[in-house]
Amino acid sequence: MKLKARRLRYTIWLYFILFALGLMCIVWVLQVVFTENNLVKSIESSMITAGESLETRYLNAIEDSVDISINDDFTSYAKSVKEMDNVFVVFTTQSYNGIGEMPSYCYPYDKTVSDKYYDEYGDIIRQAKKLVLNAKDGDFSGAITSNENKTDTMFVYAKVVDGAEGLTEPVYIVLLTSLNNIDNVLLIIQSQLGVISLIIIVVAFVISMLISANISQPLVNMSRTARRLAHGDFSVEFTANAYSEVNELSQSLNDMKEELQRAGILQRELMANVTHDLKTPLTMVKAYAEMIKDISGDNKEKRDKHAQVIIDEADRLTMLVNDILNLSKVQSSVDALELKRVNISQLLNKVIDRFTSFLESNGYFIKSEITENAYALCDPQKIEQVFYNLIGNAINYTGENKTVEVYLSVVDRKILFEVVDSGKGIDKDKIDTIWEKYYRASETHKRPVKGTGLGLSIVKAILDGHGFKYGVISKPNKGSNFFVELPVENGGAHE
Ligand code: ADP
Repeated sequence: MKLKARRLRYTIWLYFILFALGLMCIVWVLQVVFTENNLVKSIESSMITAGESLETRYLNAIEDSVDISINDDFTSYAKSVKEMDNVFVVFTTQSYNGIGEMPSYCYPYDKTVSDKYYDEYGDIIRQAKKLVLNAKDGDFSGAITSNENKTDTMFVYAKVVDGAEGLTEPVYIVLLTSLNNIDNVLLIIQSQLGVISLIIIVVAFVISMLISANISQPLVNMSRTARRLAHGDFSVEFTANAYSEVNELSQSLNDMKEELQRAGILQRELMANVTHDLKTPLTMVKAYAEMIKDISGDNKEKRDKHAQVIIDEADRLTMLVNDILNLSKVQSSVDALELKRVNISQLLNKVIDRFTSFLESNGYFIKSEITENAYALCDPQKIEQVFYNLIGNAINYTGENKTVEVYLSVVDRKILFEVVDSGKGIDKDKIDTIWEKYYRASETHKRPVKGTGLGLSIVKAILDGHGFKYGVISKPNKGSNFFVELPVENGGAHE
């Protein structure tokens, strides 16, 4: 199934909004499930605390005076204990039900107020007394609905106080508060929550729009810049911004742009070099062939000389074509590495021997210090080529003394190959470029060993293929030290 791409901007925005909505849903559910419950619990605990304080105060009052009809305002006291403004207190007895004469220790002392309470909540007070009688601990707390008027529900705390001196029968302390208030509070909370939800959704909408635009804009800009780059405009610059990830991306894209630009230049140079290098010998071949045809055909000495030039140029062409093929093969790994356990010391000596006749005829000298029997796992043919190219270069670029030093040592289970020359070295800024195809630091340099400008790129491709460490340390006008590190294979340096 094809994945349909979505715009980052809208996706971020959508997730943000969904997150905000999800949060709001959770808040609403919690509010619906828990708030009412919590409110009732908090009322219950306040009523119990107030009720217990009232009991102590009431009992103290009775102890102090048998006639308790002192004007103690128990309702105000109960309200003050827990800061409840909607509560009222009734002290009553088992027999008193608001009808007839009120015992002196009942409350409210004012008969008219008391009658009013009994008128309105007589049924609830009666039910509370019954519930206390049946309760184990002599107290009750909970909601009671009037049997006479079903819409009247009160939250009640009731307790029987007995055994106190001066009381002829047990007294019931009853605290009542209306639950209608809870509904009001809930309504207020809900409407406030509604407004808050709306504000949060609007704010989330705006913030998510800003954030998503902020995040996606740099990417949009980058993709525009990349499109310009794709059309060949190398003047573009990927700009950084406040996010480190975007910075890294723009840095990488800028690096990529530079690489592309460099690759483009190198490719053009490569084409120019290849055509030049192919054209020069071809021109020579043609010129000398014509010379043989028109001038030197009958003169054996001249003809042989001209024919030799043609042969040399043809050799040069062959060498060039071989190197190009060689490089492309190594690079495309068509020629897979044939890894073997190889005596590197022997291999190196063999390469040095290949130069012997050349050295003798040209006055060059190779000074070598080679540790015996150093073994490594590698493709011998390819490593031979590496040594050949590096030593050949050292001979090409070494100084007046015409001397090249070759070392092979084993340190820390590593075979270190070094070739040192005393030439003019390589400039710091060119040290990375010399490994590229057809790079030549100085076009005018006369090489005793013929080179095609591909030698180091072949070395690089082979060593990269093996995963060996290599490099060059060079000091201008002192010379260069090209080195390769090969891991020692089983048995170490001496076997
Ligand atoms: P070339 O055929 O030009 O030698 P290479 O790929 O072997 O091609 O080398 C690339 C360039 O690196 C050379 O043209 C030269 O400028 C530089 N170079 C290589 N070896 C040395 C060295 N030993 N000393 C100084 N410069 C070197």
